[in-house]
Amino acid sequence: MSDLSLGGEPPAVADDGVWLACVECGATVAPFDDVVYRCPDCDGLLEARYADYPTFDDFDGSGVWRYAAALPFDEGVSIREGDTPLYEVPDVAAAADVADVRVKHEGANPTGSFKDRGMTVGVKVADRLGVDRLACASTGNTSAALAAYGARADTPVLVLLPAGKVAAGKVAQAALHGARICEVDGNFDDCLDVVAELADRGEAYLLNSLNPFRLEGQKTIGLEVLEQSLAATGEWPDRVVLPVGNAGNTAALYKCFRELVAAGAMDETEVPKLTGVQAAGAAPLVEAVEAGRDHVERWDDVETKATAIRIGNPVNAPKALPGIYETGGTAVAVSDDQITAAQRTLAEDGVGVEPASAASVAGLLELRERGAVGADERVVCLTTGHLLKDPDAAADAGGEPTPVPADADGVLDAL
Ligand SMILES: *Cc1c(COP(=O)(O)O)cnc(C)c1O
Ligand SMILES: [Zn+2]
Repeated sequence: MSDLSLGGEPPAVADDGVWLACVECGATVAPFDDVVYRCPDCDGLLEARYADYPTFDDFDGSGVWRYAAALPFDEGVSIREGDTPLYEVPDVAAAADVADVRVKHEGANPTGSFKDRGMTVGVKVADRLGVDRLACASTGNTSAALAAYGARADTPVLVLLPAGKVAAGKVAQAALHGARICEVDGNFDDCLDVVAELADRGEAYLLNSLNPFRLEGQKTIGLEVLEQSLAATGEWPDRVVLPVGNAGNTAALYKCFRELVAAGAMDETEVPKLTGVQAAGAAPLVEAVEAGRDHVERWDDVETKATAIRIGNPVNAPKALPGIYETGGTAVAVSDDQITAAQRTLAEDGVGVEPASAASVAGLLELRERGAVGADERVVCLTTGHLLKDPDAAADAGGEPTPVPADADGVLDAL
């Protein structure tokens, strides 16, 4: 592993010991003076930087805000996100045949996905900036989370969704929490292009994962995985396997590990291998990793039943690809059938997930099959969203109901 440094000098304008630095050219920007999403000099992605990085002794309390010492504020707009379970999963373990495998179930967050961890920080930043409208493009879960956190902060929310391509549970959440929902005739990447233009025109504050503060909140997944793994097994995992859409989580976990190394809380050799999984019908990042490239090439046509990762242009790839390479990880594509099979295996362990989430387990099984993951490894798979997000996919993957008459004998006859 060569480069785990964070780099960048604090600008004269650092606000409360927090600033933004460009991952391409190193330019630094004050975070809370003006709204800024990309580097003013080169248009590169920005990353939050701090004067000090905490160790595990600096954390206290529960949920995302247990990790306030690693975040820009002491508290956020909160509905008690984080503190999700790390499950033992015997059926998944039997299929994977590795030294240890656990599932970190992010579906247990308040709105049913890990997006809540980013929103508790991002909506707080919006509040600090004094914006009057929040917006996102979404495959569904970002809109559900933003709708809830925007409602909590009393700030209007606009969401742009690809028409007909968002799972039912997610649209219902955005609707009930009062977001203004616009269905775009296009895919997720088209929605993001439009909402980014609205943000550039100053019409709304953008809370997609292009927003660096979303990823600050999502870093806490990594901190919880490390603390929970240590408590449960006495060791940190060798590998973290996760579904990849816009690659925000991959970038956030890499940043989490780099900060721990910078703080002296983790040795470079102990950093888990970041392993990304995409659906075969939407796998531009896998294509890039297989070719050893430092950038992804956009796929214009994407298709998969795992709608949360039906993305052809992962915006955080410039942050995520170094994470995969520098940690010695990899990326792999899985078919929709493999995703459904993994969804069923997780369900046998009592863990109900939406299709995109099952991609992590499907990816682990595929990499075991190929011999790319060793039998001696200790692995954590991230399941990103709850089963009820996509009731249609769950019903398709499960068994059919049997029609019976309204009497006990009729039921017994049918069994
Ligand atoms: C957003 C989302 C993803 C993709 O995460 P990225 O950080 O964009 O890679 C995966 N699964 C679910 C359920 C999601 O909601
Ligand atoms: Zn730059």
